[in-house]
Amino acid sequence: MQILDGKIVSQSVKDQLKTKTDALKAAGKKLPHLAAILIGNNGASETYVASKVKTCEEIGFKSTLLRLEESVSEAELFAAIEKLNNDNDVDGILVQLPLPKHIDEEKIISLIHPDKDVDGFSPVSIGKLVQGMPTFIPATPYGIMLMLEHYEIETSSKHAVVIGRSNIVGRPMSILLSQNSNPGNCTVTVCHSRTNNLKEICLQADIIVAALGKPGFLKADMVKEGAVVIDVGITRVADATKKTGFAIKGDVDFAEVAPKCSYITPVPGGVGLMTIGALMMNTYNACENKK
Ligand code: NAD
Repeated sequence: MQILDGKIVSQSVKDQLKTKTDALKAAGKKLPHLAAILIGNNGASETYVASKVKTCEEIGFKSTLLRLEESVSEAELFAAIEKLNNDNDVDGILVQLPLPKHIDEEKIISLIHPDKDVDGFSPVSIGKLVQGMPTFIPATPYGIMLMLEHYEIETSSKHAVVIGRSNIVGRPMSILLSQNSNPGNCTVTVCHSRTNNLKEICLQADIIVAALGKPGFLKADMVKEGAVVIDVGITRVADATKKTGFAIKGDVDFAEVAPKCSYITPVPGGVGLMTIGALMMNTYNACENKK
C-alpha cells in the first residue's frame, strides 16, 4: 500500500508555479492576482481563505482579500464582484462558500466573469468541462487528477466509483475520470444518497473516490483488494485531545481500508492540500490566458 501524499504533490505544483512566477517577475511582467471574497465569520471558511492567501504569498502571486459582513445584501455582493470583474489587474475571483442563507449561491457564482472563474463552479466553466473544452476545472477534482498524474496511476479502462454527485466534487470528478484523457478513460459509476447496493458497486471498483461528507463511511468490506482509494471528505469531529477541540475526519475508515489498497490518500494530508495547489494552477492560467 502506498500513500498518495498531498504534501509532496502540492509542493511540487507550488514549486513549478513559483519558478514560473519568478520568471514573470524577472521579466517585469504582470503577476497572477487572486481576489477572494469572504463573508461572515465561519471558522472553516476563515481557515480555507487564510491558507489560499498564504499560498499566494509563498508562490509570489498577488492576492486581495475582501471581507464582507454576514448581513451583506445580494446587491452589495453583486457590486463587489462586478468591481473585481472590471479590475484588469485581477485574474481570478473566488467567493468562499458556503454563503449566508439569504444569498442565492447559484446567482452569485454565475456573476463571476468566466475568464476569472478560477473555482470553475460557474455554468460556463462546467458546460465547457462537460464538452471537454479547455476551462477552469473545479479545484478539488482537478487536484485529484494532478495527484493521479503525479503517481502515474493507471486509470485507462478501470472502473471508477465516485460516491457523491455535488457540483463541486462528485459530478465534475465523474466527468473528468470518464474523459478521453490521461488520467481518465475510466468507466465511471456515480453513486449518491439514493443508490441501492452501494457496497456491491464499490466492491467492483478499481478506483473509489469518496466525497459524501460522512466520516469513516467507507469500510474495508466495501473495497476490493488492490483498489485505489481517494478520500475527499473533510468533517470536523469533536476531539477533546486536540487544541482546537476538533479533529478532521475523512469519509474512509483509513485504519481498516488502507491495508487492502494499492494507493490511498490520508486525511488530513491528502486531497485537501491538492485543492489549493489546483486553485493556484487555475489562477496562473487565468493570468496566462489574458496574453
Ligand atoms: P455535498 O453534501 O454537497 O454532497 C454529498 C454527496 O454525497 C451528495 O451528492 C449525496 O447524494 C451523497 N451522499 C450522501 N450520503 C450518502 C450515502 N449514504 N451514500 C452515498 N452517497 C451519499 O458535499 P460536497 O460538497 O461534495 O463535499 C463532500 C465532502 O468532501 C465533505 O466532507 C466536504 O467537506 C469535502 N470536501 C473536501 C474538499 C477538499 O478540499 N478536500 C473540497 C470540497 C469538499
